[in-house]
Amino acid sequence: KNLTIAIDGHSSTGKSTLAKGLAKHFGFIYVDTGAMYRAITLAALRKGLLSDPERFGKDASEVEQLLKETTISFYRDAHGANRTKLNGSDVEDEIRAMEVSSRVSYVSAVSAIRKALVDQQRRMSEGESVVMDGRDIGTVVFPNADLKIFMSASNEVRAQRRFEELTSKGKKVTFEEVLENLTERDRIDSSRADSPLVMAEDAVLLDNSSMSQAEQFELAKSWIEALVK
Ligand code: C5P
Repeated sequence: KNLTIAIDGHSSTGKSTLAKGLAKHFGFIYVDTGAMYRAITLAALRKGLLSDPERFGKDASEVEQLLKETTISFYRDAHGANRTKLNGSDVEDEIRAMEVSSRVSYVSAVSAIRKALVDQQRRMSEGESVVMDGRDIGTVVFPNADLKIFMSASNEVRAQRRFEELTSKGKKVTFEEVLENLTERDRIDSSRADSPLVMAEDAVLLDNSSMSQAEQFELAKSWIEALVK
């Protein structure tokens, strides 16, 4: 039987690190849905549609046109790392920049965008065992997932981890900017009308404020092993 593992939670709670580790260990495919919302945000940014992000989505034909011209895909590089493509070109680094992070929550609040990406996420998983991370995986994309994990950590711990990650990659950001971006995204993601970020009733909460990555991995691994038995 194919297994579906949903990992949701607030920004920078370590969802993708855990998801990648589990996918690798169990040989499941990994889908980073946040990367998909980031890629379409980059496409909108390049077209100049986000000068006033709060206005984005009001013009339905503009959104339709954007979706029509945008193809998002994933591939593995020579080191086996998962990378995101927009219309055939690698945008993995670009989609992590602050220009995208500060606008993505406005783009992801638009229903037509969500519908298109959710459809693609379901198609990508057909006939596969999958670990998918995002905000609405256990509530909307796969309400019948075999395991739903909801990840959480304190704001300061999350901001510190993301700050270290970005600066280690040479990105010029301050701790305050990172903290502000995380809390602002969480606020918008949790209050939007379509598919707000909420914990599914049947999800298990994984608060990793004081857990190492290895501890989180071992715990989640044991949950998946219990499913396979
Ligand atoms: O996971 P990541 O932080 O890269 O996600 C970026 C943004 O994409 C989130 O802040 C949210 O606005 C949006 N998102 C979403 N639904 C998902 C995944 C991400 O709305 N399933």
